[in-house]
Parts: sequence; C-alpha cells; structure tokens
Amino acid sequence: MHVDHIIRRDVGGDDLQNLQLLCGHCNSTKGSDTMNDLWKRLIKGGVLSKEIAKILKKKWNQIHLEK
Ligand SMILES: [Zn+2]
Repeated sequence: MHVDHIIRRDVGGDDLQNLQLLCGHCNSTKGSDTMNDLWKRLIKGGVLSKEIAKILKKKWNQIHLEK
C-alpha cells in the first residue's frame, strides 16, 4: 500500500487531510492527476462507464470530502 497525496503537494496538497491509502497499482495509475482528472481518464479509457464512475465518485467523495 502507498500513501497518496490526493492533491499534489506542489499545488498545495500538504495538509494531513489530503492523504489517502492506495495500493501501488492504483497510485501509479492516478499519478499526479487530481481525482477529477482520474475519473475522466478512466471513463475516456473505457475502464469505467459514466454510470459506474458516477456511483464510485459519490462513494469516494463521501469518504474523503465529507467530514
Ligand atoms: Zn488499488
């Protein structure tokens, strides 16, 4: 498992709330993308349908953005 900065550190993601746990594969897939860019890329690449991405994005936001 890797500790990922949800928002890249060089654009202000230096807060502890900005950390998430990802497996190595997910982290390398995410790269330096924002999560929004990652969702778009996964849809564009055919990994996720828009419908599935919408559901997963909502769950992700509930875990990471709602305090
Ligand atoms: Zn993973």
